[in-house]
Amino acid sequence: MVQNMDIVIKDATIVTADAKGRVLKDHSIAVEDGRIVEIGERVKGEADHVIDGRGRLVMPGFVNAHTHLSMTLLRGVADDLPLMTWLNDHIWPIEANLNEDHIRAGADLGIAEMIRSGTTCFNDMYWHMETVAESVKKSGIRAALSTPLLDVMGPDQRGKLLREGEALIKRLRGHERITPFLGPHAPYTCSEELLLAVKDLHDKYGVGVHIHVSETKEEVENLKKDKGMRPFEYLEGIGFLHPGVVAAHSVWVSEVEMGIMKERGVKVAHNPVSNMKIAAGVAPVPEYLRRGIAVGLGTDGAASNNSLDMFEDLKIAALLHKSATGNPEAVPAEAALEMATIGGARALGLDGEIGSIEVGKKADIIMVDRKKPHLTPLTNPVSHLVYAARGGDVSHTIVDGRILMEEGRLATLDEEKVMAEAVRQTEDLLAKSGTSDRLF
Ligand SMILES: [Zn+2]
Repeated sequence: MVQNMDIVIKDATIVTADAKGRVLKDHSIAVEDGRIVEIGERVKGEADHVIDGRGRLVMPGFVNAHTHLSMTLLRGVADDLPLMTWLNDHIWPIEANLNEDHIRAGADLGIAEMIRSGTTCFNDMYWHMETVAESVKKSGIRAALSTPLLDVMGPDQRGKLLREGEALIKRLRGHERITPFLGPHAPYTCSEELLLAVKDLHDKYGVGVHIHVSETKEEVENLKKDKGMRPFEYLEGIGFLHPGVVAAHSVWVSEVEMGIMKERGVKVAHNPVSNMKIAAGVAPVPEYLRRGIAVGLGTDGAASNNSLDMFEDLKIAALLHKSATGNPEAVPAEAALEMATIGGARALGLDGEIGSIEVGKKADIIMVDRKKPHLTPLTNPVSHLVYAARGGDVSHTIVDGRILMEEGRLATLDEEKVMAEAVRQTEDLLAKSGTSDRLF
């Protein structure tokens, strides 16, 4: 009997990002019920949808391991500032006026940008997550979502946000494409009580924990003054750490702390562009990789990057550590690509399902048009993807076996409408914040 597949990608060059880092020439991929069912020189059966893979590079979709999606509306409103000035004087006063309509517009815009540039899964921590979940469901992308938890304003804020965080978990648990996370903002914005409450909720629901740790030197110095310990030592001391923790940034980390991270199975979300932009420092990524600490790659929010194009972060991750260490072998192209795909999946605890092109995994796949001057001749597929390709080269984006972009056309979002609504909502948000003179 001839089996009928949903999608067959024929005769492509496939960068699998599997454990052996295999690159397959003139191979085909068959997708059925959202999963990759066959990879071979020829695949059996017919397909409803055949995509010609000739002249294309196929790779797993990017996993953006750390972002604040709806900050797309705040892209460019404040740049070139230290973190605390940027947050206190610019971002937080505007964010105080964020409502669901702003969030929806920012999420749709960010998702459109991500689908266009080959991201198939993102790890988001931001406000009104129920609304972002609607955008994720509607667009077909995959996401890990967390409500930010902080209690700088005291126990009432703590109680309210914890209730919201728990409600989100209950609502989204078991969804095919959404993984709920807990999102304690950072050790400097969360009390010990809040961090312990997060640990309890993790134990109760088994969900992951997305937190910012040791982004700036100043923050580490402040915590040392306050608690007498460095951030990971403090988190270890209160019993907060476990393999479900995804620590965004982890820039200022001591040898002892790296030992703790390794022992507890803590994952890192590395955001090289954001770190460079606020001059936060350089995370010890080569050392994390040497020690076998899982590292995913993230963009951070579009207000601090200012792009959600993972191709940029991929290239910069590979370059930054060479530059910082004086060693051209620090973070080779293969390691950078791993961070952007399977490394991110590992960070989110989803590596059994996504992050590489392998039989049995979810079909989260992108295709890159290589018939372009900057990708010709194809001497080295991995090198071309890391050092030469751009988000605009992505022709197809497939998530969960569903085509979200085909030949550069978005299938699930009306891009014109999404952009118009983003402009409208940004006008409204900036007017509410008394800064509408900033829009051109
Ligand atoms: Zn962040």
